[in-house]
Amino acid sequence: MDKEQRTEIETIGEFGLIDLISKNTSLKHPGSLKGIGDDAAVLGPTDLVRVVTTDMLLEGVHFDLSYTPIKHLGFKAVAVNVSDVAAMNAIPTQVTISIALSNRFSVEAVETFYEGVNLAAEHYNVDVIGGDTTASRSGLVISVTAIGEAKKEQISYRSGAKANDIICVTGDLGGAFMGLQVLEREKQVFLSDPNMQPKLNAYPYITGRQLRPDARMDIIHELRELDLVPSSMMDISDGLASELFHICKASDVGVAIYEDKLPMDKQTYDTAIEFNLDPITCVLNGGEDYELLFTIDQKDFPKLEKHPDIHFIGHVTAPDEGKVLITKSQTAVALKAQGWKHF
Ligand SMILES: [Mg+2]
Repeated sequence: MDKEQRTEIETIGEFGLIDLISKNTSLKHPGSLKGIGDDAAVLGPTDLVRVVTTDMLLEGVHFDLSYTPIKHLGFKAVAVNVSDVAAMNAIPTQVTISIALSNRFSVEAVETFYEGVNLAAEHYNVDVIGGDTTASRSGLVISVTAIGEAKKEQISYRSGAKANDIICVTGDLGGAFMGLQVLEREKQVFLSDPNMQPKLNAYPYITGRQLRPDARMDIIHELRELDLVPSSMMDISDGLASELFHICKASDVGVAIYEDKLPMDKQTYDTAIEFNLDPITCVLNGGEDYELLFTIDQKDFPKLEKHPDIHFIGHVTAPDEGKVLITKSQTAVALKAQGWKHF
């Protein structure tokens, strides 16, 4: 954002704001019959089923503008919703973005936020078809709804896991959580001495994981090419253990996962040690990685066996076998889902 230029939102008004938001959007999907500009968007019929998901992001609860670049926030707001569409094994097509903002925000700040939104819309090939803008007295509120589509038989629910399925996760885990610890620590340092500049250069990977997560649509497209439908799937927003609990409950199964199979980046590990945290606890309970957790039938294993970014962390068991973590010393311990506490 250009520091010298600041236009008050009241000078352009709500209609001006809507014009500003809509000027860089174009519709790519044949199902997007009408986007921004009427009372509602119009989505055409297709032979596909639709998935719809909404997420709210609140300043002070989900993000802190003292260390979150507003462009990244725009990108992240779209990415986390696309991630929920991906978690259904569907392809995202449209998003609506609603924001409530205080007069603390300038037109330039809103423009920068939407630069991030539009960058994500381009990246995930979705149309921005509407939303709402309103005033807020207590910080920035962002609400995004994402719509996606898939053939009925392609949808992966949480409820489809069965005993002996293989449990898979993409990417690596715990990074976004450790990134958040670094950002929070540097903020405290900055608050106690504003002359100190945050030392973030040493942690580029994990702070990036926190500030600019990427929904794993690449994996969803690959699964289509392989003609593979996961028996169950979720995205990891609240932490691996917590998501596994959801699958166990919805599918009425148990799980056994192996400590030595859990994927972790070296920077995540090193930073956890630096913060006196148990790296495995960070991997199991750190939230916001937006990787995919899914289960596959054993017959599908050869299709993914050599995939460089899919890790096989365990298997589904009968419900009475519980939810266990097999440690490096081959001891089975009960999994605990601390999850990501919003309240
Ligand atoms: Mg989810």
